[in-house]
Amino acid sequence: MVLVIALAAMLWGFGALMKVPHRARWTMIGLLYVFVLALQVALPDDHPIRLATGESPAFWLILGGFAALVLGYRAVLRRLRGRAQQEEAKAAPAQSGPFSDTELNRYARHIVLREVGGAGQKALKDARVLVVGAGGLGSPVLQYLAGAGVGTIGVIDDDVVENTNLQRQIIHHDAQIGTPKVFSAQAAMEAQNPFVSVRPYHRRLSADIVDDLLGDYDLVIDGTDNFDTRYLVNAAAVRAGIPLISGALTQWEGQVSVFDPANDAPCYACVFPQAPAAELAPSCAEAGVIGPLPGVVGSMMAVEAVKIITGAGTVLRGEMVIYDALYGESRKISLKRRPDCTTCGSAVAAG
Ligand SMILES: [Zn+2]
Repeated sequence: MVLVIALAAMLWGFGALMKVPHRARWTMIGLLYVFVLALQVALPDDHPIRLATGESPAFWLILGGFAALVLGYRAVLRRLRGRAQQEEAKAAPAQSGPFSDTELNRYARHIVLREVGGAGQKALKDARVLVVGAGGLGSPVLQYLAGAGVGTIGVIDDDVVENTNLQRQIIHHDAQIGTPKVFSAQAAMEAQNPFVSVRPYHRRLSADIVDDLLGDYDLVIDGTDNFDTRYLVNAAAVRAGIPLISGALTQWEGQVSVFDPANDAPCYACVFPQAPAAELAPSCAEAGVIGPLPGVVGSMMAVEAVKIITGAGTVLRGEMVIYDALYGESRKISLKRRPDCTTCGSAVAAG
């Protein structure tokens, strides 16, 4: 009995030392529990190992039942809290209205820019931007949107912060390992700029919610690294008629473009009609990525967002910037809309 508790404590302590996420540590302790229970059932009554691990399975079964009750109760509570947060986020009014003196002072370097000015800053305050993914690209995008004063920032992601994220996902910190990324990012944005309203959605973006969610926003920014989500976001952005700022990374190279068929630019599916084979598009975890690269590409995505919202300059519609960090080179290519695109083509539009 004492032996089992000591083993569990050792597992937890060793996990803490190695910075193993809480979930993995609980899994190890769960496995220990199953192992002990199996020993209790399998070994004869007077076996020394059985005597050392609690003598009877009844105690362990009661303990297991109690733990299951607590976990069940927590899961229900978490779901209720998540739903309440979503409702609250929806009900929160966009922080519109005139600027306070503190805000005018905060955005002074924007307001003096001819291309932004007071009107542009007001447009930023009234804007509602959804960021899909709070990882490598999402980190700088979210931080700069908050800093720039985008009034309503939605962020959707189902991951929790992990130790391996912190080499590049600079919105999250060491103390937040194990915390859902959307809440970690929300805390960072609200600490940076209390004048913006952040709506966190701690869940995976799925087909059943994508249209409702995008309906609440003027612009969507995709910083995810999986093709299913990219196609899902693209199709929903086309249906909603809103621009999609998309970025991607591999090792030392990044790319950015603005997909916007409502303004005669191609959509993501015009340019990438099919997802590449898995071995041709390895994830960051498989191929690696240099830490500052998402900072460069994510910041470019945030600049495009500010340009779209304020009307400044020429947005990367129908163009893609490719940045090669290894050689310090960037180039720009033109992208064409495909009339037979199955997502935004004329056949789809007519239907
Ligand atoms: Zn298209």
